[in-house]
Amino acid sequence: MSVDSSVSKEVKPESVLLCPLGTTAAPEQKLLCIFGTGDLGRSLGQRLLQCGYRVVYGSRRPNSCGPLPRGTKAMNHEAAAMSAALVFVCVHRENYDFLEALAPQLNGKVLVDVSNNLKKNLYPESNAEYLQRLIPGAHVVKAFNTLSAWSLQNGPSDANRQVYLCGNSVQAKQAVEEMATKLGFAALDRGSLSAAGELEDFPLQLFPEWRLPLRVAVGLTAFFFFYLLMRDVVYTYVEQGKDISFRIMVSLANKVFPIVSLIMLALCYLPGVIAAFLQLYRGTKYRRFPNWLDRWMLCRKQLGLIALGFAFLHVLYTLIIPIRYYVRFRITANTISQIRENRTSVFDTTKAWRADSYYSMGILGFGLYVLLGISSLPSVSNALSWREFSFIQSKLGYLTVFFCTFHTYLYGWDRFLHSYSYKWFTPPGYLLSLVVPSVLIVLKLLLLLPCVDRSLTRIRQGWERTDPEDSSVKALLT
Ligand code: NAP
Repeated sequence: MSVDSSVSKEVKPESVLLCPLGTTAAPEQKLLCIFGTGDLGRSLGQRLLQCGYRVVYGSRRPNSCGPLPRGTKAMNHEAAAMSAALVFVCVHRENYDFLEALAPQLNGKVLVDVSNNLKKNLYPESNAEYLQRLIPGAHVVKAFNTLSAWSLQNGPSDANRQVYLCGNSVQAKQAVEEMATKLGFAALDRGSLSAAGELEDFPLQLFPEWRLPLRVAVGLTAFFFFYLLMRDVVYTYVEQGKDISFRIMVSLANKVFPIVSLIMLALCYLPGVIAAFLQLYRGTKYRRFPNWLDRWMLCRKQLGLIALGFAFLHVLYTLIIPIRYYVRFRITANTISQIRENRTSVFDTTKAWRADSYYSMGILGFGLYVLLGISSLPSVSNALSWREFSFIQSKLGYLTVFFCTFHTYLYGWDRFLHSYSYKWFTPPGYLLSLVVPSVLIVLKLLLLLPCVDRSLTRIRQGWERTDPEDSSVKALLT
């Protein structure tokens, strides 16, 4: 049955109307009820008024409940419940007990549960299911809980346009959906009331897809910080008696950030290559990847964005090198000693080539890095065709890995051949950072071999390699 108020005079028990029964109110003046005059109740009331609804509040203290939006009125819960067909319950779950006594007045009405909890799994059942248990004759719909009072008051913006809802009555959900649309939100039906727990967990989430990449970033940063601290600062102090701890702030940081950035960039592309080899090995794309690989693939964007953040820090730290006291002191001291000793240094073309190539690779790599970051923004990626997006993220992405890896190889140059690089028998940090990207590049080059590429393309187009044993068994059976 339609939820429109003007359709029928006969009201079936399951039907849901948004205007008071027996009234002839115009659709734009539908009367809605809000229980609770707190933050959310007031913001919601304000928004409903702005969108052409009439609003009545149900309150414990109708005469002293504080300032309410102009044009609304407050009454006791019984009277308010009887005056509207749709009631928002803007009260914390802990205070729902009073609703039980209102069961006769709320029978057959739509009850919108907007509540959230402070923690996940605080109660055995969701708030909306609890409300439905308290008032079995009402049509409970879970909605609006993912919006804040502030965003409701300000109206929908791109970031919070969606209103998730769920409930067991289709008509009740339609009524809430219609009202949410009128308020300027996009309603998304998440199914029956059993999905309410999931909706109540939404606002409690804390960057769920960022958790793993952030852990990787923190782990790598901590490891390389202590590794380089031992090799650079502690080693110099113990072996040479020199205190160079001041280098922790800039020199050490500027070694850790590019190392973490390069490893994370490679980790962003490695699961794709592993998945390709797995498909080649299995001869099909229709078998599920192992869970760990699935999880890894799902956080590639976050890995890449964190890697870009570290690359930014590397660039900033590099830019301040010329103004560092230590650097200016060393240059001046060196020049004075050259003048004193009447020495001149010879221009080394190889060194010049190496330094320029090193900087050039770094700049190109960083430029592409930024392009990858920009193209992963939803507003940009939505404007790209799938081919354009995959060209940037895949082709230019691997080019970025190549430039940044080459930049690091040029940084190290032939230093790995000298024994002084292996302080306390440990390899330098840059050498460790090259392991994952180098493996990635080799694996990618293998995948680019025409024979391998052809097989992979066929598999990705749906072709499956049949197991010879399988087909012989089938032949015997037939
Ligand atoms: P609030 O400011 O504390 O208001 C709650 C209201 O509930 C009170 O103003 C009071 O209204 C009523 N109330 C308090 N104790 C009661 C009792 N024992 N019996 C009956 N009514 C009682 O809370 P709120 O921020 O508006 O949040 C209300 C609900 O919306 C909560 O479930 C919350 O999880 C949910 N929510 C809030 C936001 C937000 O941004 N604030 C966002 C999403 C969801 P009267 O004095 O008029 O009776």
